[in-house]
Amino acid sequence: MSFTYKRSSSLFNEAQKYIPGGVNSPVRAFNAVGGDPVYVKSAKGAYLHTEDGHQLIDYIASWGPMILGHAFEPVVDAVIEATKKGTSYGMPTELETQIAKLVVSMAPNVDQVRMVNSGTEACMSAVRLARGFTGRDKIIKFAGCYHGHSDSFLIQAGSGAVTFGSPNSPGVTIGTAQDTLLATYNNLDQVAEIFEKNKDQIACVIIEPIAGNMGCIVPQEGFLEGIRELCDANGALFVFDEVMTGFRLARGGAQETTGVKADIITYGKVIGGGLPVGAFAARQEIMNHLAPLGPVYQAGTLSGNPLAMSAGLAMLEHLNDNPDVFVNLAQKTEHLHKGIESVLSTKGIDHQINRCGSMMSVHFTDQPVIDFESAATGNNEWFKKFFHGLLDRGIYLPPSAFESYFLNDALSYEDLDRTVTAVEEVVSKW
Ligand SMILES: *Cc1c(COP(=O)(O)O)cnc(C)c1O
Repeated sequence: MSFTYKRSSSLFNEAQKYIPGGVNSPVRAFNAVGGDPVYVKSAKGAYLHTEDGHQLIDYIASWGPMILGHAFEPVVDAVIEATKKGTSYGMPTELETQIAKLVVSMAPNVDQVRMVNSGTEACMSAVRLARGFTGRDKIIKFAGCYHGHSDSFLIQAGSGAVTFGSPNSPGVTIGTAQDTLLATYNNLDQVAEIFEKNKDQIACVIIEPIAGNMGCIVPQEGFLEGIRELCDANGALFVFDEVMTGFRLARGGAQETTGVKADIITYGKVIGGGLPVGAFAARQEIMNHLAPLGPVYQAGTLSGNPLAMSAGLAMLEHLNDNPDVFVNLAQKTEHLHKGIESVLSTKGIDHQINRCGSMMSVHFTDQPVIDFESAATGNNEWFKKFFHGLLDRGIYLPPSAFESYFLNDALSYEDLDRTVTAVEEVVSKW
């Protein structure tokens, strides 16, 4: 059995004429794995139905949002009902208060939440708020952590003696890059050093508390706690980017699973139930600085959109009422982890599997993957063969070694076992 994707390829050819690179977000283009992207016609539960007539087991869940599976009925129904009442007003609705109240009850350490339209917007606004609150310009971010595509985050390590970063995309100015200081994930000493060299200049440290954008990387014992102390000692805010982890790892996200308190928390993905939503939240003292209460400006014509809020509310209500989802998902992820691990170990293939809750990643390297540099030691040729071998067998993994799998609760143990069997077939020929 080997799937072919002829219609997808022809749709991609047509798309490339009218859309840059044929896609509206680069990772979809398969640049990291080669070949043409797969076109989706519809999706239900754990399965994607492609334009080629194939059913695929989905391990990306739209990069996180579809934690309960595709076309989850309470969410779909909520959106249909809301649509009939009008799709946007640009005026307040009660729905916005309902979802804000629920977010505040689920997320630790926050009094208020502001809705936006993407994770990018949430992180961009969180940093502006941190700067406005502290009156400082510089931020610390970690190599390999992704916080959306706003200028301050598109930064790579600077050269030589400089501690600030340099732009890693044309269009980002050197001036902007100089305010972003780059650190290595899981290297607390380096963070301390950066604070030392930039006394009273750091507005915030922003981090993925469980990283998911260099594969899945878990913070080592004491790392987040240490940053928390450094922030407190230096009057800086600690920003948790929970766009991936929020409402995925636990009701209270990574703050709950790590026990570390953040000052500003950004959300996205799950919070929108599959519609374009982001959010940032903090305690009152910080949120008081945000317009229209305070001077830090932030706005959005479609922010708090009634369709998006209906989808998000239905999603969060279900998760809030059924916290066992998080436990079940973690067990399913562990099952998949153990299955793949056993196959790769038996075959003697160098690998590291990282996992946290319903996020995991397979790295083809013999080194522990703890930061961007070690993630980059993965053998990409093996990853490509692994990805395409599974795609040929009806299993859809993230098309890049630097992305995490996101499991959804519609996956059955039979799906997971089918996946492990497919892995066995793929690597049997290596
Ligand atoms: C996806 C993601 C973002 C960006 O969210 P968009 O909705 O794609 O703009 C920011 N931070 C993290 C951790 C993410 O995973």
